Amino acid sequence: MTLHASCLCQGVAIEIDGPVKDMLYCHCTMCRKAHGSAFRARGRVKTKDLRWVRGEHLVRYYESSPGQHRGFCSHCGSSLFTRFTDAPHVLGLALGILDDDPGSRPSCHVFVGSKAPWHEITDELPQHESFAPGQGPASPRE
Ligand SMILES: [Zn+2]
Ligand SMILES: [Zn+2]
Repeated sequence: MTLHASCLCQGVAIEIDGPVKDMLYCHCTMCRKAHGSAFRARGRVKTKDLRWVRGEHLVRYYESSPGQHRGFCSHCGSSLFTRFTDAPHVLGLALGILDDDPGSRPSCHVFVGSKAPWHEITDELPQHESFAPGQGPASPRE
């Protein structure tokens, strides 16, 4: 399965030749600010599954916490994916840039301890105060 993804201005386009895993909603303060929204919907893809269609030169990275580099389009500002110094084989993918249905669905909410006070979670998915079980400070966080 090949998934297509692109930024708002269409300057950046990528293809993903593999599954999107670990889909979830992150309510941490950094994700809220990075997306200008109530939460970040993200998944994980293997770095080797990402293929550039165009616009690699447009991507800038912001190191939001040590070793975590959030990539965004320098022209339109779209959040794209996150690179991890400690885990270069995976990328955190901003699900909003997907142009195709990845098939799987987000399974939980994380960092609800820093959730926006004006946002109410209305689904039945599990909520975690910080990391999801099995996730931890040593593993990539976003
Ligand atoms: Zn763009
Ligand atoms: Zn987050």
